[in-house]
Amino acid sequence: MTEEVFRRDGYAFEFEANVLSVEGDEVELDLTAFYPGGGGQVCDTGKIRGLEVTEVFYKGEKIIHKVKGNNLKAGDVVWCSVDWDRRYDLMLGHTAEHLLFGSLRRQVPDLSINKIFISPDSKYVVVDRDIEWEDIRSALAFANKAIRDNLPVTKSIMSRDDPELERVRIKKERIPDGEEISVVSIGGIDLSACSGLHVMETGELEMLFVDRKVSAGKDGVAIHFKVGNEAKDSAMELANACLRACDAADSKPEDLVRTVSNLKNGSEALRRSAGAFVKKLLSDLEPTAVGDVEIVGGVFPPVERTILSDAAESYKNSGKVCILVSAGESVSVMVSSGIEWIDCREILSKVLPGFGGKGGGKKDFAQGGVADAGSAEAVFSELMAEVKARALRA
Ligand SMILES: [Zn+2]
Repeated sequence: MTEEVFRRDGYAFEFEANVLSVEGDEVELDLTAFYPGGGGQVCDTGKIRGLEVTEVFYKGEKIIHKVKGNNLKAGDVVWCSVDWDRRYDLMLGHTAEHLLFGSLRRQVPDLSINKIFISPDSKYVVVDRDIEWEDIRSALAFANKAIRDNLPVTKSIMSRDDPELERVRIKKERIPDGEEISVVSIGGIDLSACSGLHVMETGELEMLFVDRKVSAGKDGVAIHFKVGNEAKDSAMELANACLRACDAADSKPEDLVRTVSNLKNGSEALRRSAGAFVKKLLSDLEPTAVGDVEIVGGVFPPVERTILSDAAESYKNSGKVCILVSAGESVSVMVSSGIEWIDCREILSKVLPGFGGKGGGKKDFAQGGVADAGSAEAVFSELMAEVKARALRA
């Protein structure tokens, strides 16, 4: 059995050990400060006698250090070092996770946690439901006050029938009968059953910040957080983005949410009325007669596709040829034909390539696009000329 130094001293990162066994890349030591991962925290990496330790994990009762291509053998005395920057970042992240979840629970008392992930690149908790940003703000205010107060982070052992266990976040079903329970306290404001690695004082976190929340499907919502300098950088970056958004929306920061929500509602209302307006225009287009062929069409503002396609379909059914061009960020084109010998695909493939665009579809209904929004009128004129030329040829 390996003595687990990391259980009693999270700050030990260099140590001497005896090699107990070696099987290929898998090295077992008599004692180790390498954390094999657990509780959502990824494992440590580092070096054994100068050789890279790429992974550390439990294999049954054993702790295995993966050291590729090593020439170690049982009985060797080796000097070992854990990658301290990585380990310390993980300890900060893990301690921050306790503090964050405890603080969120003060806002949403029956909130429960479904998953924890602490790695150098990504730190998050998955909680069972979405949380309002306003509640996250209050939770972070509480957590960052606890950081400023530099509260001690301590570990104690409780028995399963300790009445104090009522105050502790714990999943009792996960703890085997008879096993004592290791409880981590953050200055008495948060108690949680945990046997992972933590820092000694909340002040070490410097700052805790939530920069993202994303759906985690059936598991709930992932609340991503950052600690220390990464938290400060992220907070500055987001505050700056908010100020730029204020300029773009012509708003003060304190009014930004309301301004953006008004803009969004306004643009939806505009889109609806533009749709109704274009629909009305499309319903009574004046036909141009060329020989026996009646042609309708024009250039319109961007509206829902179905408004245009319904009109094109209806003109086709009444035996006309219809050319609809709409110009938004790019140009989209729809051509329908109620005349057997006027082929919409042919017309599009004649005109659109000249504008760097393309199209396709059926003989009686084709659509396409051109990237340059400024070319809408010219595209329409050429399509019209093509249809007229065919009508005259008949
Ligand atoms: Zn913990």
